Amino acid sequence: MTSNPPVPFFSGAASVRRQWPEVSGLVRQAAARGTFVQGPLVGELEERIAQYTGARNAIACGNGTDALILMLQAAGIGPGDEVVVPAYTFFATASCVVHVGAEPVFVDVDPRSYALDPAAVRAAIGPRTKAIMAVHLFHRTADIAVLRDIADEHGLELFEDSAEAIGMRVAGRHAGLWGRGGVLSFFPTKTLGAWGDAGMVLTDDDELAQRVRRLRSAEESVGDGDPAEAAHSVCDEIQAAVLLTRLSVLDQDIDRRARLAAHYTRRLEPLAPVVTTPVIAPAKEQGSTVWYVYLIETDRRTELIEYLTAHEVGTEIYYPRPLTEQPCFRDLPGARHPVPVAKAAAERAVGLPLYPDLTDEQVDRVCDLIHAFHGGPR
Ligand SMILES: *Cc1c(COP(=O)(O)O)cnc(C)c1O
Repeated sequence: MTSNPPVPFFSGAASVRRQWPEVSGLVRQAAARGTFVQGPLVGELEERIAQYTGARNAIACGNGTDALILMLQAAGIGPGDEVVVPAYTFFATASCVVHVGAEPVFVDVDPRSYALDPAAVRAAIGPRTKAIMAVHLFHRTADIAVLRDIADEHGLELFEDSAEAIGMRVAGRHAGLWGRGGVLSFFPTKTLGAWGDAGMVLTDDDELAQRVRRLRSAEESVGDGDPAEAAHSVCDEIQAAVLLTRLSVLDQDIDRRARLAAHYTRRLEPLAPVVTTPVIAPAKEQGSTVWYVYLIETDRRTELIEYLTAHEVGTEIYYPRPLTEQPCFRDLPGARHPVPVAKAAAERAVGLPLYPDLTDEQVDRVCDLIHAFHGGPR
């Protein structure tokens, strides 16, 4: 069909080649020491992430999903509590609430940020509402200062699923640090990705941090705590070696992602309104833009994906349906609010390849194909 090389949705092969000598050196040291889990490299990673984000505490654990669970458990969120979450987000944002015995209340999102719509949040607050879980998706932050105000007005806790948000700051404050706590995920495709799973809890609250540290390690928490809460969710030295190495080039990676995203936007903007490109945050919030995912919207998503797949271009649907339509959530009382924006995004949005290893030629190829699909000028 074509002699052009495939454009995978994600590839880190060139980065891995570049980073291999440093990573293998660190892993060799860890192996020689005989510390494989939660050793000095993990300690150093926690320190370096705390410096990078400005968090008083950065606590490593097994993955972002566990980080969310540990954070809510440590904060005492549980049975009888309602937590307001967006209807359009990754599954774990809401499953963590159910995991700790609390109830998610799903509300609609803002079509520009894909994050919690503050008006919808206000409308969903009731007598049992205990917390708001803000999520920062794709390339920009939620309207976090407003959500902070809403939480304060109603005496609610604010948490952040900042799993995608490393590097995103609003008014100089890093995502995850606007409320009681936030998380990071180091899933391989994330902006700072490991070569396996890892995650972190970020918090300025020392007491919460101490409880997260106890909960993440079963041996420490079963002593005088509730064994039902005891987790074993830790980070290993191999992932810490990868993450330390990659953290040293994170800002370069973020710059590269921004240049690639700008290239996509330049090429795809002329297709509006048939294809819409991501909405950039207002100038005063520019610091909050970090390109984790480049998401476009189109009414002809299924056919476009088929066309790109046939030409060996990878895509990913973020997120295939509103959480209110997930079979495990749809019958919950918290799934009663209408979520038209989440529904439209789940039907129309598709992520294009975006990672530091991607070349400008590959972006051009993806854009050429999208133009060709729409029969427009190239
Ligand atoms: C990736 C992600 C998570 C979960 O992180 P894992 O490390 O994969 O468990 C949670 N929430 C959001 C919004 C994410 O993108």
